[in-house]
Amino acid sequence: MSKKAESIKVVVRCRPLNSKETAAGHKRIVEMDVKKGVIVLNNPNNQGEASRNFTFDAVYDWNSIQKQLYDETFRPLVESVLNGFNGTIFAYGQTGTGKTYTMEGVRNDLEKRGVIPNSFDHIFTHIARSQDQQYLVRASYLEIYQEEIRDLLAKDQSKRLDLKERTDTGVYVKDLSSFVTKSVKEIEHVMNVGNSNRSVGATNMNEHSSRSHAIFIITIECSQVGVDGENHICVGKLNLVDLAGSERQGKTGAAGVRLKEATKINLSLSALSNVISALVDGKSSHIPYRDSKLTRLLQDSLGGNAKTVMVANIGPASYNYNESITTLRYANRAKNIKNKPKINEDPKDALLREFQDEISRLKAELSKKGGGVVGSGGKRKRRKRRGGQGGTGSDGEIDEESDEEVEVMDEAEMYKEAQLKLENEKQTILANQNMIAEEKEKILKDLLTKQNDLKKQQQAQDALNSKIKAMESKLLVGGKSIVDHTNQQEKELEKKRLLLAEQQLFGKLQRVKCEIQDLQEEHLMERQNLEQTQNELTRELKLKMLIIENFIPPEERAKISSRAEFDEEGDQWSLKPLAKSEGPLQMAKRPVTASGNRRPITDYAKVSANKGGNPRYKAENILKIDLDLPNRTTRDYEGPTVAPRVQAALDAALKDEEDIDIEIVPNFFGQNKGKSKKEKGKKIVRTTKKGGAVNSELYPTARGLVSK
Ligand code: ADP
Ligand code: MG
Repeated sequence: MSKKAESIKVVVRCRPLNSKETAAGHKRIVEMDVKKGVIVLNNPNNQGEASRNFTFDAVYDWNSIQKQLYDETFRPLVESVLNGFNGTIFAYGQTGTGKTYTMEGVRNDLEKRGVIPNSFDHIFTHIARSQDQQYLVRASYLEIYQEEIRDLLAKDQSKRLDLKERTDTGVYVKDLSSFVTKSVKEIEHVMNVGNSNRSVGATNMNEHSSRSHAIFIITIECSQVGVDGENHICVGKLNLVDLAGSERQGKTGAAGVRLKEATKINLSLSALSNVISALVDGKSSHIPYRDSKLTRLLQDSLGGNAKTVMVANIGPASYNYNESITTLRYANRAKNIKNKPKINEDPKDALLREFQDEISRLKAELSKKGGGVVGSGGKRKRRKRRGGQGGTGSDGEIDEESDEEVEVMDEAEMYKEAQLKLENEKQTILANQNMIAEEKEKILKDLLTKQNDLKKQQQAQDALNSKIKAMESKLLVGGKSIVDHTNQQEKELEKKRLLLAEQQLFGKLQRVKCEIQDLQEEHLMERQNLEQTQNELTRELKLKMLIIENFIPPEERAKISSRAEFDEEGDQWSLKPLAKSEGPLQMAKRPVTASGNRRPITDYAKVSANKGGNPRYKAENILKIDLDLPNRTTRDYEGPTVAPRVQAALDAALKDEEDIDIEIVPNFFGQNKGKSKKEKGKKIVRTTKKGGAVNSELYPTARGLVSK
């Protein structure tokens, strides 16, 4: 019996983008590292924002197949149920993300069958391979819709069931029907009946299933002779839960009935959320299981003695982002729920025990009848069960239309012989001519009653026999009642698959261990660094303390520390300004007069001040001093003054000139007709810088200032 606490197992599954989404151009925002169990969600609204990471026991991406999920995640749990533990698998998530696909899958497609059908195969194969064990398997199917429980296997679908609680077996659904099933085919039939009832009355099946919780319950009882030689029974119960869609309900203008429905649907899911929170935070002594039908029914599975696997389903597309984040947070919290799984051994109300007892009682009765007592048969009432085992409160319904062949040849022959004897007797009496008619009639009548009694007895015995056969047929015995179709090869294959799954898990474990070691080393280094920093800081602090203690007067220290203020934003100490500081250490304020002025003023002065004028009576600021700047007594240097004429002459004189060739033209001096030879034919040419010629007539007359 395991009493160790273990966390509930949480796995995440992301379905592939469907054709509609691909056609609409939706992008996948989910990344999954299947090996490490890590899932990353990229925020589509804000590319800059860091993506969100989550780690789970396992993650299954869009390529995952049903069989893989079953072998890795669900098979161990169902195996535990076969060993007498209670187990729960529930699928959580937004509508359309694959809860039903995971739980039920696609009917008639072997590859796409979900947990429920796969568990059927698993259970009956396990039983077929068992030895020296007797099993009894039964199934129930219920739905919670608007906080009402409907038995999906009941004949009357309008009935609503109640939850009851018993101190020994806990919470159960009163009057929930359960069907004993002998094979995969039979339990599949039960599931199909329930599913068809589920859709009855629902106008929109999609909407209905997104708002209701469906729970398929398989109870497996197993009896075995223990080491003590006694017969022991253990009972495992498997809850397979397809929850309502986790999306916020009724945000689309819900009113009236819709709103009521919405709040009720939310009730179970939010109660589930509250239960998870309360379990996880470790402070709550009260876990609000009683807040909803769902949480009461699953009480055992959340923080109780069951083993639980939660599958969180999410969609891959960007428009699922918010719901996906919510689902992952929810799942992340659920990881921390601790259960204490425990085998249910020899419960008082095991149906198997009742079956066994009843069969031996019937057998005893039969053998008594074989002793020839006539007339005691046919009176036995149909057995009724009070309450159910751990949640099922029905009578152990027995299929009475069982068409089992009854093998009672010896007894039948015996009866035939007796009948024959009676008939012979009758014939002899009829043939006897010596008897009086009256006497004859009496004896014949006697014979007839005897004959009838015999018939009745035979019928009763037949009934008893078939009853025993029917009951025995429900009890499954390994290797006998079921033909094991799986040959050795298949067995090997399954073993290999299990081994593979185990190896993968082992690999995962090793990787995680490595990661843990890395983290620990990193942590150690960081710690050493921190310690070093701390040492340095302490040393520095000691120095500062030394200085303060020895060189700063205590009153100054006190003043400063009272003014010191820590600025959280700037992450540093600052000193409050003196004027604003309060208390005895502040600087003395400048006193004010009674009238609030800075200095006493006579009334006369006030009146005069109001009148304006004489500044002498201004209360404040008598002196209004503008700075009197000194007059300028100097002048800027301007240089000597020269008369314009002189200046011009100077300029002209100082100007650089190019070479001047002066030729004397003979008739230059106009009045002189007789020119010298030298002067004849020549003109005076003054070459300017531009090379133009200046008319000699215009040449200025010498003014005599510049000597020639
Ligand atoms: P839910 O029950 O959560 O509302 P369903 O199980 O009905 O969602 O899934 C919605 C659709 O997506 C269905 O058509 C289903 O076949 C498909 N689907 C879900 N999960 C997968 C998967 N892992 N692989 C392929 N198809 C899937
Ligand atoms: Mg569904």
